[in-house]
Amino acid sequence: MRIILMQRVAKVTHMLRAQPWPEFDDNYLWTLSNAEGDTLLIDPGDPVLVKRVLAGGLKLCAVFITHHHYDHIDGLTALTDYAVPVYAPDDARIAGATHRVKQDDVIQIDRLNLSFRVLEVPGHTRSHMAYHGAGHLFCGDTLFSLGCGRLFEGTPAQMLASLDQFAAMPADTLVCCSHEYTLANAEFAEAAEPLNAKRDAYVQVIRDKRRQDLPSLPSRLADELAFNPFLRVDQTALWPIWAAENHAVIQNRVDAFTVLRRWKDRFVRKLHDR
Ligand SMILES: [Zn+2]
Repeated sequence: MRIILMQRVAKVTHMLRAQPWPEFDDNYLWTLSNAEGDTLLIDPGDPVLVKRVLAGGLKLCAVFITHHHYDHIDGLTALTDYAVPVYAPDDARIAGATHRVKQDDVIQIDRLNLSFRVLEVPGHTRSHMAYHGAGHLFCGDTLFSLGCGRLFEGTPAQMLASLDQFAAMPADTLVCCSHEYTLANAEFAEAAEPLNAKRDAYVQVIRDKRRQDLPSLPSRLADELAFNPFLRVDQTALWPIWAAENHAVIQNRVDAFTVLRRWKDRFVRKLHDR
């Protein structure tokens, strides 16, 4: 019985397509669709793009909102004619939500035959949520490929605890984050962890994709765990590099994350000829 159920889930997941739609300068609007076009929309920022995406024949089932920043919610104004549930953090700065979510809520999307778990991931903002289901993680501005979000409203300890929730997920989870920051983040990853040959090879693949104007996303969680410095604060061998570079003392993993995030905030790209 269990095997049959797992085969069914695998088949359903296989037929899903997560698509990043370029939006504004470097955002992505995400859709997750099945073969019939039943679709989840995640973080609609641009009403014009939302209309264009849905005019292509996708059938909207539900909307997930990760946080209140305009580039994640302003597209809701294009959805007033759609009677679909809009799941969002319990935050008055987000108008138009029909369901307010909290940690460990399970959202069932019947038409897609999928369920998603909600995670509270404060750090970038205090009410930021992430949605995990069907092998995909929609993490907004909390985790980026090779980086993480800026701390606008949360503490380093909160952000680290949020990232720890992601790190515990299956390694083949597809990370669907909201900005195309990967190559810029790679420059910082190279500074934070100078010797990581597998990361260098990975970045070269991303560079080739970006040259062809292809998205670097989704990424695999396994690659983030191996290459993203913000998921590597337990690599104590790196702490002396981070401490020396920042004239700081690192005694524990929260110290390590704090120093790393502050370093990233003031990191200036080195001039190079690429
Ligand atoms: Zn944001």
